[in-house]
Amino acid sequence: MNVCESETLSSMLSTYGMVQINNTLDADIIILNTCSVRAQAEQKAFSYLGRVEEIKKQKPNIKIVVIGCMAERLGTKVKKRFKTVDLVLGAKDIDNFALKILNLCNFEKISSDILINRSSEIVRYITIMKGCNNFCAYCVVPFVRGKEISLDNKGIFDKCKVMVKNGTKEIMLLGQNVNSYKYNSTNFVSLVKNICKIDGLERLRFMTNHPKDLSDDLIDLIVSEKKICHHIHLPMQSGSNKVLKEMNRKYTYEHYLELVNNLKNKIHDISITTDVIVGFPGETEKDFNDTFKAVENIRFDGLYVFRYSPRPSTKASTMFDDVPLEEKKRRHSIILNASNKISTEIVSSMVGKTFEVLAEGFNFNVLEARTNSGRKVFIKDTDKDYIGKIFKVQINESKVNSLFGNIV
Ligand code: SF4
Repeated sequence: MNVCESETLSSMLSTYGMVQINNTLDADIIILNTCSVRAQAEQKAFSYLGRVEEIKKQKPNIKIVVIGCMAERLGTKVKKRFKTVDLVLGAKDIDNFALKILNLCNFEKISSDILINRSSEIVRYITIMKGCNNFCAYCVVPFVRGKEISLDNKGIFDKCKVMVKNGTKEIMLLGQNVNSYKYNSTNFVSLVKNICKIDGLERLRFMTNHPKDLSDDLIDLIVSEKKICHHIHLPMQSGSNKVLKEMNRKYTYEHYLELVNNLKNKIHDISITTDVIVGFPGETEKDFNDTFKAVENIRFDGLYVFRYSPRPSTKASTMFDDVPLEEKKRRHSIILNASNKISTEIVSSMVGKTFEVLAEGFNFNVLEARTNSGRKVFIKDTDKDYIGKIFKVQINESKVNSLFGNIV
């Protein structure tokens, strides 16, 4: 979501003549988009702001803007700690980001409702909802992003149409909990059905899916609608019912497993990826083993594992953080190793087979493409003309999370 919001902001600012560059010393303005989801993400932002102080000494007129979830959570405290920061814009104020940044730079007044109209990009993200009402015990998102708000379905549809007209082939719909999208009489399934009707759109993805809201209707739509990719990110978080309850996730492991089996039975090539937290308060060795067994049993195509860290305002921050850091690290590495082993086995089994891919980019004479299931495939000795096209490749080599192939 942060990538999407950074792109949108960059797009809006570029219509006023601003250009995104890579060298901070050449910049007139540095915009730091922050995340609050883990303590480590905030520490990284702080250390970056520390480095930026040095840049400001060399270039006193440079403007420093901090946006996003950490900015929302800490507000003016960011400015107190880093005197070099000119502007702090919290995540809830996202609609006014561009306007306030342009004002800071003395640009003329603009409308905050610019339709994203960038030059051709093969894969684009679009936010369909903001905020979250779920209040998982460990999560700061409802506090920094606010209540769940679904955006106008017509506006979303129109933006998708513009993107496709400009050359986009694949769209990813984003929301903290996309399955619970509801705008008047339009629910998530009807929104997706409608977007799939756009001529020229080849692929559609969406994330993140909350297991409690993943309906049979949506699974059936993935089966019947050819444009929907066979990849679903379905955060499990824990394989222990006791921990899931403490986390306020509102489903049991058995329910989660039923969803996974339903998906696998109906969509034979579905790729399922997940998130797991280890070391949540009260997680015993037995609870952790339940998670480990779930990972081994389900064999996820991809898995992000996080060590629990308390986030301010959350329910879990009032619980006793009783799993020592060393133990969290041990559990983290056990899950990571198991997941990497499974992932390696899955990608190895793809070698020799042929898959349809969409070419997304070209870097150092290597074509970067993606399978329908979301795996990256690198194709050497070819040319740029394939970008934006869907074609078949035979896989001839695999690494942990990447594949290499030749065009068939
Ligand atoms: S569903 Fe839970 S984890 Fe996801 S954003 Fe909402 S509160 Fe956070």
